Amino acid sequence: MNQPRRNIQWQGSHVTPEQRREAIGQRGCVIWLTGLSGSGKSTVALRVERRLLELGKVAYTLDGDNIRHGLCSDLGFKPEDRRENIRRVGELVRLMADAGVVAIVALISPYRDDRARVRARIPEGRFVEVFVDAPLAVCEERDPKGLYARARSGEIPNFTGISAPYEAPVDPELVLRTDESDVDGCVDRVVETIIPLLTL
Ligand code: ADP
Repeated sequence: MNQPRRNIQWQGSHVTPEQRREAIGQRGCVIWLTGLSGSGKSTVALRVERRLLELGKVAYTLDGDNIRHGLCSDLGFKPEDRRENIRRVGELVRLMADAGVVAIVALISPYRDDRARVRARIPEGRFVEVFVDAPLAVCEERDPKGLYARARSGEIPNFTGISAPYEAPVDPELVLRTDESDVDGCVDRVVETIIPLLTL
């Protein structure tokens, strides 16, 4: 497995981080939204992205479902597939943040270790973990894609919260209780957290 890497050398950049920041007018970072299906990750991600673009910032949302159509179309939902899914998205957003983009990830990412591994690959302070939190009963009641009903009937195996675990973040940068605050309030809190990072 390591054999081919022996012949590969790291190619350095001809641009310093400062030059890149000056050209783009911002520094990149990663906003990682984790939570149960139906907790509100996509809703918040897309609204944050639009708000940042309205402020003239470069932001891009990576939605878990969309990623599985392309970059991760070969992966399923077994723990090792979920781990690989998160590793690939983590490497992608690491590069995007390095390029100066605010990369917004909406991914259930149920395992603490997987999220910690991504965090460890991103420069200190540039990984913002957001726990999009709502009780399972609320998510199931919302069931925006009808997935809980299908999971309960056994049609979808390994469904997070029903037949697969969700490990809540221990010390996230932000917790959004989407059953207590409205969408605007949640979006405001993410944007307020991110804005200072763009110039730091
Ligand atoms: P996920 O991406 O986590 O699976 P979605 O964003 O697709 O969840 O769905 C969340 C649902 O909850 C949407 O129908 C959304 O309108 C609703 N909702 C209610 N309150 C909030 C809130 N504060 N933040 C985000 N979504 C909310």
